[in-house]
This record gives sequence, structure tokens and C-alpha cells, in this order.
Amino acid sequence: MRTIAHEKYEAVIGLEVHAQLLTKSKAFAPVTIEYGGAPNTQVTPLCLGHPGTLPVINENLVRYIIKMGLATGCSVARKSIFARKNYFYPDLPKGYQISQYDTPICYDGAINIELEEYDKTIGLTRIHMEEDAGKSIHDQDPYNTLVDLNRAGTPLIEIVSEPDIRTPQEAYAYLSKIKQIVQYLEICDGNMEEGSLRCDANVSVRPRGREKFGTRTELKNMNSFRNVERAIHYEIYRQIDLIEDGGEVVQQTRLWDTSKMETRSMRSKEEAHDYRYFPEPDLPPIIVTDEMLEEIKEELPELADVRQKRFVEEYEMSEVDAVTLTDSKYLADYYEEVTEYLGNPKAASNIVLSEVLRVLNEQSIDIREFTIGADRLSELVKLKEDDKINSSALQKIFNKMLDGDKSAEEYAKEMNLIQVSDSGFLEPIVDEIISNNPDEVQRYKDGKKQLIGFFIGQAMKASKGKANPKLVKDLITEKLDN
Ligand code: ADP
Ligand code: MG
Repeated sequence: MRTIAHEKYEAVIGLEVHAQLLTKSKAFAPVTIEYGGAPNTQVTPLCLGHPGTLPVINENLVRYIIKMGLATGCSVARKSIFARKNYFYPDLPKGYQISQYDTPICYDGAINIELEEYDKTIGLTRIHMEEDAGKSIHDQDPYNTLVDLNRAGTPLIEIVSEPDIRTPQEAYAYLSKIKQIVQYLEICDGNMEEGSLRCDANVSVRPRGREKFGTRTELKNMNSFRNVERAIHYEIYRQIDLIEDGGEVVQQTRLWDTSKMETRSMRSKEEAHDYRYFPEPDLPPIIVTDEMLEEIKEELPELADVRQKRFVEEYEMSEVDAVTLTDSKYLADYYEEVTEYLGNPKAASNIVLSEVLRVLNEQSIDIREFTIGADRLSELVKLKEDDKINSSALQKIFNKMLDGDKSAEEYAKEMNLIQVSDSGFLEPIVDEIISNNPDEVQRYKDGKKQLIGFFIGQAMKASKGKANPKLVKDLITEKLDN
């Protein structure tokens, strides 16, 4: 529970985010990375740490990290080196990870986050390159731990923030922004649940107004943005309560336990690794030339903020709609495909913002998993634009298309929803409604013009939803207004 004591403190948070890069091959070995391969099928002698093997840098690793650096306003070091980070672990056969230590390739950047009540800039200390370790598997064999080295040597970037974050909500917004940027740059798929983004959170508290930071703990093992937010929240209150009770925070690594919703100690500072970093002797320094930097700048795609402004201008939509549609690159791409097909930005945003987003929310899925592709959706909207179906038919067909792969037109025919715009068919229906409802006709003639809705409703019902409502309206007014 939040108390007055809690109000006296302020939290200080810094995040270390690892992003797995979407390069086709590993960081230092010519082996293709394919998701879901059988264990230990994507390995070379280098990944196994065999003596005599030598690493060779994947040029895309350097290009991708520079893209990230440029997109976040970092300075790019013209010369930086790799370092060995030494530790022993069964999933690390070489006995060290190739990383960067005191010369990160990108440094001094910033990420802007937007919260409901304010915007804020979070400083980036550095972004550096490293390789991933393999994976120990503890739950497949009752007696032994198994090891899969497919992941050993896959390329990562580590993005280290300044301790500028003050609340769990800011941490959440910061992570969302990183995900958005890496997806726009197409350098990482940004999925934290699947481990392609990972986050360690450093948390400390201090009395408000004091400049000196408190002792921090480092939180690990959160596998979603929500859990990062929860773990930080839990940890802030744990630390404040501890201090208020006369205790002291000890520097330690703590693990988030999702089922208990709490953090617990994993190791203290005394047990912390001493990695004995030293320069990697097998790799030359990375030299970034003016030419290379210019070339990468040219390749940078349109990022979310710019795209959002363009949507407002080019498609004449509100800023709120533009923010929603450009939040994910994939949703923005989808929207633009529909718009291009229809030649009508408004019709496209109407359906994407209503029906499509409703389904994405209901099913908690990404647009990439949505079953109606941009082309099929466009055909559906086109039927309506061409007056071949009415809006209630559009809804019905849309729902049907979610679970089937036929085209909108096929469903429209199958469900008998092609709109009737033939007055020869509609006129007798309208005549019958008029003669069956003399009271309503009288009131309409006496000036209660809203009754038009009643007549249209009756005609739609009588035609089983197939009548073109506009034509029905014309027919009725023609008959009653003279
Ligand atoms: P390490 O390599 O031991 O994790 P770093 O100096 O790289 O240490 O810092 C890691 C992260 O911790 C950075 O994001 C930094 O902003 C953050 N940080 C440093 N001091 C504090 C503190 N007192 N409270 C909260 N976060 C901190
Ligand atoms: Mg750390």
C-alpha cells in the first residue's frame, strides 16, 4: 500500500536492453541462423570453441548497430575494439563472450518517451555489440542438463540507458519505444516474450531532493514489458520499506518470480563476476569511415515520428489516428497497402481503426498474425464503396473472413448479401410497407420526418438485409413526399 513514507522517496532506474539482431548469419561465423532449428544443427567449430578457429566479423552486425545509433542520436566511434568477457558456463564453450568494453561503437544518445501527462528524454550511455551464449535446457531430461549451441554466437546489441528513468511507467514507455525503433529499422523483431528483446532493470531509491543515488539492485528474468513494470514497482516498495524499517539495501542481483509476483535475491555483489575484460586479439579494430556512415544514413527508413506527421498531411487524418496507425510499423504498412488499393485513405482508416483493431485487441495479436491480409480487406471495402453491399453486410462478411480464406465477394454471394439496387425488385416491397403502416405514413406526412428510418428499417428487414438503403430511401421519399 502507498503511504506517506513512500511519498518521501524517489526511484532511480536504468535499463540494460539486449536486442537480438535479424542478421542472416552469426556474428563471427559463417553459419545461417534459422528460427526453430533442431538443437546443435546451426554450429561451426568456432561456435563450439574449438582451438585454432578464428572469428570474422559479419559486416551487417556493424551496419545494424550503427542504424540503431543514428536513429537514437548517438555519436558513432570511428574506431572501436572488441573485448573478451571471461566467464565459465556450460553454454559458453569458448569460456568468454566477445563483447565491447570501454570503446562502445555508439554512445551518448537519447530516446524520447511519451506518457499521458508529459514527454521526457531518456539518455543513452552506450550501445555496443556482443555475441549471445548458447542455451542450457533443464526441463527435458530428468537427470541431466542439456545444452543447445544454436544460439551461441548470434549477434546482440546492448542498449544501456542513463539512470534517467523515475517510474515503472516510464520504463514501460521506454521499452515500447525501443521496440518501435528496432522494428522500424528492421534490425530486430522486438518480441520480448520470445526473447529477442531482453531487459535487466537497475533500481535504487533516494529521499526526494537528495542528489546522491542510493544503492541499486539489478532485476532479471522479466519476460514481458508488463513484468518489467511490475518487477520495478515491487522492488521500489521493497527498498523503501526496508529503509523505513531501519535496514539497508544491499547491491545484488534479484530474480523476478512471475508466479509469486515478487523479486528474490540471486547473488550479492561479493559473488558478482569479475569478467577480466581484455582486448580481443583475434579481431581487428572496427573502423567506421565517412563513406560508410553516409551510406547507412541514406539507408535509414522513415521512422515513426516522421511517418506520423506524413500521415496527418498526406491522408488528412487526426493526430490521434496517425499515432495509433504508426505505433507499429507493420500496422502502418498494412494501412498504407489498403489505402493504395482503395485510393481512399478515409475508407481505409475507418475499417483499420474500427474492425481490424478491435480484433487485434480481442485476440491480443499483432497485425502480422491477423488472418485477413491487406488485399482481401481492400476487396471487402471496395464492395461497399461500389454499393455492392451495405454496411451491415460488410460486418457479417468481415466476421466470416476472419476464419475462412475465401474472398469477400465469394462470401457475399454465398451468404446472399449482394445488395439489390434494382428498383423493380424493391418497389413492391416499399409499396407493401406503405400500405401496411397507414398510421406511420400519416404521422410522416404530418411532419414527423424521422420516421424515414422506420420505413428503411422495415424495407431492409423485408429484403433480408440485401436492399441498397440509399435506393430504398429515395423510393420512400419519392412516394411519400408528394
Ligand atoms: P553494470 O555493468 O555493473 O551493470 P553499469 O555501470 O553498466 O553497471 O550500469 C548499468 C545500469 O545501471 C545503467 O543503465 C545505469 O544507468 C544504471 N545505474 C547505475 N547506477 C544506478 C543507481 N544507483 N540506481 C539505478 N540505476 C543505476
Ligand atoms: Mg548490469
